[in-house]
Amino acid sequence: MHHEPDPVPGAGETLVTVGAVAICGSDLHWFSEGSIGGEGLEQPLILGHEFSGVITDGEGHPVRVAVDPAIPCEECRHCREGQPNLCQQQRFAGHGHDDGALREQLVWPDQCLHPLPDSFDIVDGALLEPLGIALHAADLGDIKPGMRVGVFGCGPIGLLLVQLAQLSGATQVIATDLLPHRLVAARAFGATQVFQVDEGGEYRNIWAATGQEGVDVAFEVAGAEAAVETAIASAAPGATVVLVGIPADERTSFHAATARRKGLTIKLCRRMKHTYPRAIRLVETGLIDVRSLVTHHFPMDEYEQAFAIASRREGLKIVIEPTPST
Ligand SMILES: [Zn+2]
Ligand SMILES: [Zn+2]
Repeated sequence: MHHEPDPVPGAGETLVTVGAVAICGSDLHWFSEGSIGGEGLEQPLILGHEFSGVITDGEGHPVRVAVDPAIPCEECRHCREGQPNLCQQQRFAGHGHDDGALREQLVWPDQCLHPLPDSFDIVDGALLEPLGIALHAADLGDIKPGMRVGVFGCGPIGLLLVQLAQLSGATQVIATDLLPHRLVAARAFGATQVFQVDEGGEYRNIWAATGQEGVDVAFEVAGAEAAVETAIASAAPGATVVLVGIPADERTSFHAATARRKGLTIKLCRRMKHTYPRAIRLVETGLIDVRSLVTHHFPMDEYEQAFAIASRREGLKIVIEPTPST
């Protein structure tokens, strides 16, 4: 940790006192590999993009906000056509040259700040970012009532997709993971069947569980080639497969003939669109539970332990609270 001058907001920006930052699998890529998706580090980088904080309103009252970490350019064709997640000039907290939220204060554009309902605590606010990603992935999957859904990888985004699949009317939500404690969590969040990853052979259990028909929508949320293979192997003919995980080695491959013979639609999930208002409503109404995802809280000066636990894939969501009094 080190000290920097207090940030000063410019036009259209607000000073945010950071309340909670959740550690994400993508942070672990930066942390352990110093790069993500072929982009490397050229300077020290403050991580943290799943976060919430406190701002002061016009009368000096504190307002708790969730912060959208993505700052699209607002001018390119993709921004103007309502696809800010595809903006190639987009800045993103804790990515490349843009410092993230693991600090006490930062300034951020006003339009990225989403006030939290009273029922939210500050940590709930930080979890709206992963929920937004899961919502965007669910939108891509286009789950319809009565469909059977597979979720391959039960980290926090996978567990949110399990909940969203249930909410969308899936009659079966089948989840897989390597780690037993994540499968227990998947059950608790509504998975109808869970299978431990078994060198890819678990797809047979999924075929058996679906009457030898396969799943109608498959979400790969592990960032692992084995999970991509299993998602494709488990998909029904005509199914949609959504790739959400970020692979460590920058390649995604799968058995082409399997995907081709089944005529699969393969979609790639890139961040999210304008999902914060929906995410807030889903949590406010109790339809989605984000709070139960959090298994560990740490103050800022115990960040090393927080990252060590996250790197060992212990627990589910690890949260650091730079200013715990928020
Ligand atoms: Zn994230
Ligand atoms: Zn743009």
